[in-house]
Amino acid sequence: MSESGKPTQSEEEYFVREDAEKKRKIALQLKKETQTNEQQRLRDLHWMRCPKCGMQMQEVKLRGVDVDVCFACNGVFLDKGELEHLQKPEHKGVMSAILNWFK
Ligand SMILES: [Zn+2]
Repeated sequence: MSESGKPTQSEEEYFVREDAEKKRKIALQLKKETQTNEQQRLRDLHWMRCPKCGMQMQEVKLRGVDVDVCFACNGVFLDKGELEHLQKPEHKGVMSAILNWFK
């Protein structure tokens, strides 16, 4: 404070800056929450829905491999790591078994 009791210019600038910083943090938090809510909304909306035709997909487990199948458009979808799974020698034949479902 200056002798007059009013905040000095640098004090005032300090308070304005602090206030701006607080508001910036609130805005960033809100942005983050909005993104999270939007991601959650999209997840709820699209969960186990075929990305091609929008119908409900079915989870089929075959010899330790989880395959999401859309029987409406015959789409087959694999989660992360499952393609590598299918490549392993012990899973030989799983791919042809899957192909048989659509015959
Ligand atoms: Zn589909």
